[in-house]
Formats: sequence, C-alpha cells, structure tokens
Amino acid sequence: MSDDVKVLNSVVSLDYERPPTRAARRYTEAVGEKRLIAHRCPECERLYTPPKGYCPVCVVLTTDEHEIEVSPEGVLVSYTVTNPDKLHQQGGKTSARGDVMLDGTRITLMGELDGVEAADVHTGMRMRAVWVELEDGRLPSSGGWGAVGIKGWEPTGEPDASREEVQELLKKAGES
Ligand SMILES: [Zn+2]
Repeated sequence: MSDDVKVLNSVVSLDYERPPTRAARRYTEAVGEKRLIAHRCPECERLYTPPKGYCPVCVVLTTDEHEIEVSPEGVLVSYTVTNPDKLHQQGGKTSARGDVMLDGTRITLMGELDGVEAADVHTGMRMRAVWVELEDGRLPSSGGWGAVGIKGWEPTGEPDASREEVQELLKKAGES
C-alpha cells in the first residue's frame, strides 16, 4: 500500500486578507479618536486592550456591551535604558522603554519613552500615550514596540506618583 504514496513538491503563493473582527475595528476607530477601549470580562472582570472578543481565562465571549473606555494615561512602573556603547552599536541612540500602568486599571502597556532624556527617566512619572496615525483608517502594519496603536509614552508634566503609590500599583499588577 505504501508504494502507492506519491509526493509532489511545489511552491505555492497565497495572498489572503483577514477581515478585522468587530472588536478590532472598534479599537482602531477609537485609536483614530485618541481614545483607548477595552473589554471587561463579565466573569473575572479582567480588562483586555485591544479587546480580543473573548476572555481566554474564563473562555467567555465579550462584545460591545463589555466595552469600556480606559485612560490613555498612567504611571511609569518600570523601565529599561539601552546604552548603545555597551551594545556595540556605535552611533546608536540611547533610548528608554518602559511599562505604564493605566490609571484605574491593572493594565500595563510597554512602549518607547518619548520627550524625556534617558538619564531623567524614573518610576512614578505620569505618562500619556503618544498615538500612531491611522493610514486610510487602518493601523499601520509595522507594529513596532509596545501596545497596538500607541507609539510610546511621554510625560504629562504632572507631579510624580510617590514610591509608596508605585509599590501599591506593582502589588496590584501582581494580583491580576
Ligand atoms: Zn474572564
């Protein structure tokens, strides 16, 4: 029987488009308006941004009725500064990336830190989203670092959160 098996090697090319889900469309529209939306799972109350349309933990579908707007501002809870000299990237730029915990949530989003010298970056800084520009109503395909639709984070200029407040936020993040 196995003698009858024939193998054909050939290269095929497939072009396909994946239509965005409703949740993805609404998220993109919101980004165009510089708003951040999330879905709240009706069972565990976890927030997802961008909304997935389901909670993978509870295996529950989420829809428009679970959509909420979340603040595109928050507190810098951790960061990394890259030193191009140590990375043997001469002529490279020192840059900083950090994790911002959004106000009133346990959501931490990573991104490039903008508008602040790497040497001045510190936890507790109040940051706001720097949004990407939509291209023909779509999110640009190069995702880059960090959250979808958000290029990075820049300081709001408001007073820092205290060390205790940052510790509290980190504790909260650990519980989720
Ligand atoms: Zn859930």
